[in-house]
This record gives sequence, structure tokens and C-alpha cells, in this order.
Amino acid sequence: MNILEIAYWSAIVVEMVIRAPINKERKKEKMTEQRVSSQEKNLLILLLAGMFIVPLIYSASSWLDFANYTLPTWAGWVGVLLIILALIVFWRAHVDLKTNWSPSLEIREKHELITRGIYGYIRHPMYASQWLWVIAQPLLLQNWIAGWLDLFVFILFYVLRVRAEEKLMIDTFGEQYREYMKKVGGVFPKFS
Ligand code: SAH
Repeated sequence: MNILEIAYWSAIVVEMVIRAPINKERKKEKMTEQRVSSQEKNLLILLLAGMFIVPLIYSASSWLDFANYTLPTWAGWVGVLLIILALIVFWRAHVDLKTNWSPSLEIREKHELITRGIYGYIRHPMYASQWLWVIAQPLLLQNWIAGWLDLFVFILFYVLRVRAEEKLMIDTFGEQYREYMKKVGGVFPKFS
């Protein structure tokens, strides 16, 4: 494994460490609504493949070596910087969202609309973090399959998920979420 692959796998471990306690806690709370389509389930499986399974095949075997490419050293370091930034945003989003987080679209009994912390700057910091991740991935895993699959799957996931998630938030929080949308940007802060 080269240093860029080590950076990638270290970032995976950091994300798991950040997420694990919240994932455990949230399961104790009662859920009042869940909206998961089979399309979304399939996309979540594809995301797992793009982020974890295919990179694992790339790092642990030589099966994907035919699709390797080599970038200049500086590009690899840009990848390292982007993935560190992704981790910082990911961590902050978990600190602020706490047990309101879920892998699919869910509303808990005590669900609170979070608009403070990083959610005061952008409405979708976890997805912003994932954007940084999928841009970093082809710089770190220099392979046309292991580096790029995640990006294409995430584009599809993002478009479908954000639309469905914002509908769920409006159905649950109504005017409060509409006001929040007016004031706070999606993955880029509003500067006006
Ligand atoms: N889109 C957000 C959250 C992703 S986790 C982000 O990118 O950071 C998905 C879950 O978060 C959904 O089930 C939804 O119920 C919940 N959620 C999304 N935005 C929220 C908010 N501002 N406050 C509370 N819960 C939120």
C-alpha cells in the first residue's frame, strides 16, 4: 500500500470512530417515520461498494491494476488535504446533529430540527463532506474504477436523496424548515 492509500483507509477508520457512538445511541430512540425506497436501498449498497468494497479489492489484490494511473505528487497531497477537510466537516456535523442522524430518511420521536453549529452555515454538511470525499478519492486511489465509482454513485444518490430529505423535513417541520432553507444554503454557505 502506498502512502495515499494509507491516508484513504485511515480516513475510513476515523469516520467509523466518529459515527459508531451516535449510531449506537440513536437505536435506543423510538422512530415515528421512515421513508426508504428500494431505489435508495440499492443506492446505499452501491455507495458502500464505491467507498469500501471496490477500494478494498484495489488495495488488497492486483485485480484492478490494469486500470491504474499515476498523477503528479502534488495531486496526491491535494487529495490528502481534501479528505482531512471532509473529516473535519463530518465530525462537526455529527457533533451538531447527534442522534437526529440516520443512514436512511427517518424521524425520531424526539426529533429536533438542528439549525445551530455547522447547520447554521449549511443544511447538508454530511453531504458536503461526502462531496469532498468523492473528489479526494480519485486523487488518493489512482485507479479508474476504485477512484471514480464512488463519485458517480454519489452524484445520483445526492440528487435523489436531497429532494426526498427536504420533502420529509418540510412535511415534519413545515414553515420552520422553509424559513431555514431561505436563510441557509445547501452545501455552500449563503453569503448574502
Ligand atoms: N442532510 C444532512 C443530514 C444527513 S443524515 C447533512 O448532510 O448533514 C439524514 C437524516 O438527517 C434524515 O433522516 C433527516 O431526518 C435528518 N436531518 C436532516 N437535516 C436535519 C436537521 N437540520 N435537523 C435534524 N435532522 C435533520
